[in-house]
Amino acid sequence: MASLFGRQAETKTAGNGGKRQQGHRRHKGTVSGVCIRCLKHTRGYAVADDYVIKTIRWVKHKAGVDKGNTLIVCEACLPEHKKKRGEFERSLIIYGGAGVLIAIALVVLNFSISSLLTGLILMLFFLILSHLKYTPRVIEE
Ligand SMILES: [Zn+2]
Repeated sequence: MASLFGRQAETKTAGNGGKRQQGHRRHKGTVSGVCIRCLKHTRGYAVADDYVIKTIRWVKHKAGVDKGNTLIVCEACLPEHKKKRGEFERSLIIYGGAGVLIAIALVVLNFSISSLLTGLILMLFFLILSHLKYTPRVIEE
């Protein structure tokens, strides 16, 4: 008898799949800008504009210290950056998952406004923790 249990279901999250097309692209996906790791002015891979980068930009703009630099990761820093990005993605999943589970457990065990609030605060706390290793995504060709 063939067993279905021998097979391992593989669920892969599609990441934030959709590749964003950049209007002005030259030289095989590299753009000139400032490397976020070594701070050199050089060519490299553009950093994806996510909510953290957008928030930092907004704050800098409001504070009047926005230099308008394009953020990149240079070729030399790319391997290290990719490693860090992997660690960040893992910590997002681990802390995010733990936060959600704990919040649900709290509410299920004892449903009240205060446990709901505690759950939400814990979730927020875990979300902040997961961002300690924040590393932006890089747009590669
Ligand atoms: Zn660099």
